[in-house]
Amino acid sequence: MTTVGILGGGQLARMLALSGAPLGLRFLVMDTVADACAGQFAPMIVGDWRDETALAEFASRVDVATFDFENVPAEAAQWLAERVPVFPSPTALAVAQDRLAEKTLFRDLGIPVPPFAAVDSRASLEAAIARIGTPCILKTRRLGYDGKGQFRLKSPGDLDAAWDALGVQATTVGLILEGFVAFESEVSVVAVRGRDGEFRAWPITQNWHVDGVLSASLAPAPVDAALADAAVAHARALAEALSYVGVFALELFCRGGELLANELAPRVHNSGHWTIEGSETSQFQNHLRAVLGLPLGATRMVGEACMLNWIGEMPDARAVLAEPGGHWHDYGKESRAGRKVGHATLRADTPQELAATLERVGKSLGREVQVQPVIAALR
Ligand code: ATP
Ligand code: MG
Ligand code: MG
Repeated sequence: MTTVGILGGGQLARMLALSGAPLGLRFLVMDTVADACAGQFAPMIVGDWRDETALAEFASRVDVATFDFENVPAEAAQWLAERVPVFPSPTALAVAQDRLAEKTLFRDLGIPVPPFAAVDSRASLEAAIARIGTPCILKTRRLGYDGKGQFRLKSPGDLDAAWDALGVQATTVGLILEGFVAFESEVSVVAVRGRDGEFRAWPITQNWHVDGVLSASLAPAPVDAALADAAVAHARALAEALSYVGVFALELFCRGGELLANELAPRVHNSGHWTIEGSETSQFQNHLRAVLGLPLGATRMVGEACMLNWIGEMPDARAVLAEPGGHWHDYGKESRAGRKVGHATLRADTPQELAATLERVGKSLGREVQVQPVIAALR
């Protein structure tokens, strides 16, 4: 019996555990909070990764370890990797945890990026704004997610406000200034690389964010094939450079027929949730196969798919369940403003059918605003 350890017990760990059940896998989740939603399906150690006793117990009970949470300190991941196989590697994790290291690697690999500069003082912020220009966006280098730890500057006059908001973090997690990209669309490549180096990508996904949080994903993204191929080639180059093992997502902006890389998520990704029903093999199943050294499953799509995120509280499931291609995912979390509590995936055989399904679901749930951009992209 193989036990997979997962650091972090959120919905990603939960969906990993659900998808690993048919493979006969056991799971052990470690999280700082006792009510982490993966705990409903897997035994859990409640503890902090800085607590060596808890981490040692975790290590002693698992055959291989992976992450649901990308911000596990690289030192904790390294400590664990000295005791049990850990995928992705602590080195790959360390790069993806730091927006500066990540963007520098993108650039070194010839992957286009928005202009960026490290910021460690008010003076260096001023210099960075002078070089990059406005609009621009100041971000924490580490620990940001769902658009948290970001400040948008419309003009150089916003310098003080930006420094007031994030300046204290310049010497703790570090800061980076990036040029603001007036993108036409955002896409992501969700891909997997096996222990033997085999690489597979799912068809690329178009994503819509609201207030920095993913709202909807559509696959395949309605972009031309050359752009999609270039995005996948960038993802492959990154995976190879990092000797990456497991699933990851590369987020990119599309502007004027060109791609600019935004960030790398070193884990299964929200924009890949549609793969559960919309693909031959889901991202969760392929992540487990990759970390266990098993053959990877095909990543081809089964029809067209749209994922809608439920933020804050769950809507009524019936409008989605009434659809022939409607699939419901309730993460079993308490409602809380801004929290990802679930999602739905709608699948159809053609873009027209998917658009019609989204219209019906959007109307019944009073979520026309959420589905409208996806419907527009399908037409
Ligand atoms: P995630 O939850 O995806 O990990 P995050 O907090 O790491 O989010 P980003 O992905 O960097 O943050 O930013 C969140 C969203 O903010 C992006 O998907 C995009 O919509 C917008 N954004 C971020 N950086 C830029 C930029 N340089 N130009 C334009 N928009 C941006
Ligand atoms: Mg991120
Ligand atoms: Mg992002």
